[in-house]
Amino acid sequence: MGPPDGAMVGAGMTTRSLPLFEDRRAELETCVYCPKLCRAACPVSSAEPKESLTPWGKMSTVYFQARGDAPLDEEHSALAWACTGCHGCRERCDHRNEVASSLWEARFAWFERGLAPAAARRVVARHGALLTELARASADLSPSDPQGTPVLLGCGYVLRLPDVARDALSVARALIGPIRILDRCCGLPLLQAGDMAGFHREIQILTAEFPPPLVLDPGCALALRKAGIHPRLLVEEAVAHLERFSTVGTTGEVRYHDPCQLGRGLGVYEAPRVLLARVLGRAPGEFAERRQQAACSGGGGLLPRTMPEVSRAIARSRVQAHEQAGSGEIVTACASSLRKLREAGAQVSDLTTWLARALQS
Ligand code: SF4
Ligand code: SF4
Repeated sequence: MGPPDGAMVGAGMTTRSLPLFEDRRAELETCVYCPKLCRAACPVSSAEPKESLTPWGKMSTVYFQARGDAPLDEEHSALAWACTGCHGCRERCDHRNEVASSLWEARFAWFERGLAPAAARRVVARHGALLTELARASADLSPSDPQGTPVLLGCGYVLRLPDVARDALSVARALIGPIRILDRCCGLPLLQAGDMAGFHREIQILTAEFPPPLVLDPGCALALRKAGIHPRLLVEEAVAHLERFSTVGTTGEVRYHDPCQLGRGLGVYEAPRVLLARVLGRAPGEFAERRQQAACSGGGGLLPRTMPEVSRAIARSRVQAHEQAGSGEIVTACASSLRKLREAGAQVSDLTTWLARALQS
């Protein structure tokens, strides 16, 4: 296959057919000429060792596709979806390149051209059905007060982890009073699939009707930030009311897993540890790879849909690290990491559940 219509081929020529990438030119060019310092950080290429799956490989492919020097076909374009959005590579990069953001831009461009993987297209096609399920499941959770503070729980919690969603509602009500459960989507699944127009449509609906909500899932909070909205997280609200939580204690080992979107995505490392120390009566256990260096659970970026085997292998690797550190229970604070680590066989709970148990009346 030749270069795309209108593409210019040659050194430094990138823009006519793919203007989106102008904003990302510096990152793309830096990666192309890099000695790949970040390769060990990528959970995808660690789980499936292929040069094309390293951050360098994915960025170079986008770069050469944009130049018209690599085919604009589904096989090459699919590499933009071979990323969990964990930001792990950024922490190893001297330039702090935002590889995930560049790959997301490539997703938008490839989706528009009909080059998104079938799994991503299916996510977009069934988004209407997801909204219907979300509205029904939200109504089943608990009564919502139309005059209350809007709370966005996230579809991962509402649809797949309703017990944790109920715990979050108990905690939110105890801390801030009456709440209104938002039965809308932040658009994150569409963003990850590459449907930028659909993502902005969801954001517009959400922001036209409500002030910035209190948010449970860090993935939703990060998606809202991409649209310029800075919501407050439930974990931040909770740590500001630390005295409201008592010590429930436990004899077993409890180890905290930093969710990528909460840690590297939003920069929240301390609040969950402070809360866990309060409810456990001691500091939580730690993984060898933690905070900025924490390993991914494989649940982000739509990877469970586009590369399910790789996603499972990433989760297994994190659970093996947990077992090597002494096993016990993992506590996390995002729906996708909770589900992936459970699927990989670990005993996993959500920080919110511990907070609900520790609430003092
Ligand atoms: S993200 Fe940084 S370290 Fe990784 S390939 Fe690109 S420039 Fe190199
Ligand atoms: S953001 Fe994470 S999954 Fe994506 S390329 Fe970087 S290290 Fe790999």
